[in-house]
Amino acid sequence: MGEEVERRDNNMGKFTLVRVVVGLLQANCYLYADRETKEAVIIDPGSDGEKIVRSIEKRKLNPVAILNTHYHFDHTCANKDIKERFNIPLMIGKEDAGRLQSIYNDAMQMMMQCNPSPLADNLLREGDIIKVGRLSLKVIETPGHTEGSVCFYDEYNHILFSGDTLFLESIGRTDLPTGNTEELAHSLKKLFTLPLHTTVYAGHGDETTLLHELKHNPFVKDALS
Ligand SMILES: [Zn+2]
Repeated sequence: MGEEVERRDNNMGKFTLVRVVVGLLQANCYLYADRETKEAVIIDPGSDGEKIVRSIEKRKLNPVAILNTHYHFDHTCANKDIKERFNIPLMIGKEDAGRLQSIYNDAMQMMMQCNPSPLADNLLREGDIIKVGRLSLKVIETPGHTEGSVCFYDEYNHILFSGDTLFLESIGRTDLPTGNTEELAHSLKKLFTLPLHTTVYAGHGDETTLLHELKHNPFVKDALS
C-alpha cells in the first residue's frame, strides 16, 4: 500500500483527493480538496500530524475543517496537532462526540503516546452538508462499528468516505465499546442504496466501489440478505 496516493478528478478538474497512511494501525487520513480554491477537509487525522501537515503544505491546501468518521484513537490521535496548527473546527457524529475523551480512547492514546483529542466544535447529524469550496459532503449516519459512526458522501462526484463501516471485502468490527452488529447491517443496507459506481475510500486499506463489494464482500451479502 502506498504511503501517499493522490487522485485528481479527470472530468471536471474539481477535486484533489490524497490518502496519507498514518500510525501503527495504518489508518487512512484523507485530504479532500477543491482543486481550484484549494479549500480542503482533513478526514481522520489518526496519527503522524507532521506528515499530514507536510502533505497539506506541499499542495498549498487551505484546510477548513477536521472531519472524524468516528471517535477511535487510530482516526483521531492527530486531531489536536492539526486543530492547533490550522485553527479549524473539529466535526464528528453527535453520538461519538462525547467519546473522543472516553476511557477506551484514553487508554489507547496512552499506549500509543498520542495527544488526547480536543472536544468537537460541530456535532454532525444525518443529512448535514459540509461545504468544501465547490464540493460538498453529505453526512450519512452509519452506526454499528461505533454508535456515532458517520460516512461522508459527495453525491456529485460519487465518492464515499466510509470510515470503519465498510472496507475492501470486509466490514468494521463490532466488538469494541458501542459496537452493534445489527445496526451495522442496517447501515450497510443504507449505503447500498447509493449508486453502485460510487468509489469507496475506507478508514483502512485500499479503495473499492460499492459494486465490487456487492459482488465480492461476504459480509455485505449477509447484511443485505
Ligand atoms: Zn474504528
